[in-house]
Amino acid sequence: MATLPIETDALVIGAGPVGLWQVFQLGLQDIRCHVVDALPHTGGQPSELYPDKPIYDIPGIPVCSGQELIERLQQQVRPFAPAFHAGHTIDTVQRQPDGRLLVGSRQGQSWLTRCLFVAAGVGAFTPRPLNLEGVAAFEGRQLHYHRPADATLAGRDVVVHGGEDEALRTALDLVASGLSRRVTLVHRRDVFQADEALVLAVRERVATGQLHLVIGQPVGFEQTEDHLTALNLAMPDGQTQSLPVDQLLVFLGISPRLGPLSQWGLAMERKQLVVSTDTFQTNEPGIYAVGDINTYPGKKKLILCGFHEATLAAFAAAAQLRPDERQMLQYTTTSPRLHQLLGVSPN
Ligand SMILES: Cc1cc2nc3c(=O)[nH]c(=O)nc-3n(C[C@H](O)[C@H](O)[C@H](O)COP(=O)(O)OP(=O)(O)OC[C@H]3O[C@@H](n4cnc5c(N)ncnc54)[C@H](O)[C@@H]3O)c2cc1C
Repeated sequence: MATLPIETDALVIGAGPVGLWQVFQLGLQDIRCHVVDALPHTGGQPSELYPDKPIYDIPGIPVCSGQELIERLQQQVRPFAPAFHAGHTIDTVQRQPDGRLLVGSRQGQSWLTRCLFVAAGVGAFTPRPLNLEGVAAFEGRQLHYHRPADATLAGRDVVVHGGEDEALRTALDLVASGLSRRVTLVHRRDVFQADEALVLAVRERVATGQLHLVIGQPVGFEQTEDHLTALNLAMPDGQTQSLPVDQLLVFLGISPRLGPLSQWGLAMERKQLVVSTDTFQTNEPGIYAVGDINTYPGKKKLILCGFHEATLAAFAAAAQLRPDERQMLQYTTTSPRLHQLLGVSPN
């Protein structure tokens, strides 16, 4: 049975840094919103691609890591209590007879919104799948592309497949938590493309026997009825080894997919949405595009530029939603109205 659309004034597609800042700026305009992301968590590129790397060009923050920036933004949007819908990839956007936009996710949820903010970055982040015929049948039960709840992993033989930061970090976390019966890291070569400290930590845990490391390439799997029981690995010596598995966590990287966004009838240039620089509105009234997804003369794909775009887009949305109200520029330092919205009482 299809679920009823969630009605809202504003919907933000993408919970990267610019999507989060859009939520904050909408909040200052007293516009509450819903936020959707294909990923199971907020953060976009800084969380997915460089969580531990330093950023030096955020005004007022001399240095912080990608993840720290996202945590600060999450804290900043908290007063506005956005409704976050994780793990939803937006597929469709259709104009309704009353002018609102019906926005639908691949997972079956829809939203009816008066304005839409596309903060989709370089596209929906989609994990690279394990390329074994038939293995997709176990997805969500025994095969995962994001770390599942602890209860799923407790007391189990867990195999973590991958050679980059996320695979190593997850394997180390599982060992440290003592949650699983046995943790095995599987990678096709004995060389990791990961942070040096993580590689060092993995080598140490392997040396002490806390973490098992198997160098091999998955080529097949074994099952009993509908239960995955083992992963078949092609070993460097040409032999095939069967590795018992209860839960298989695969981290082969993520690739952004622009996907259906290009079919929403919005003007595009080189896979980016064309916007005007006074409102950051696209060619469709009420649809704004901010951050890496947009283009205009002089565009720079920087977080700072996205923050500016989202700020002006929020002003434009306020004018769209409340056309009879005079717009006044207010400062967060001195405006009692903004203090009220932020839930703060200075002095
Ligand atoms: C290694 C690296 C280092 C960088 N360092 C810096 C730096 O030092 N300073 C700087 O200013 N910038 C830096 N950048 C660039 C910066 O990360 C981007 O400009 C910024 O992340 C753009 O933010 P965004 O919110 O527009 O998009 P993103 O961060 O890409 O977030 C977009 C989100 O939208 C979601 N999404 C997309 N399509 C859909 C859909 N259809 N349905 C649901 N969800 C969807 C995605 O899953 C994603 O989470 C760096 C980038 C990289 C890769």
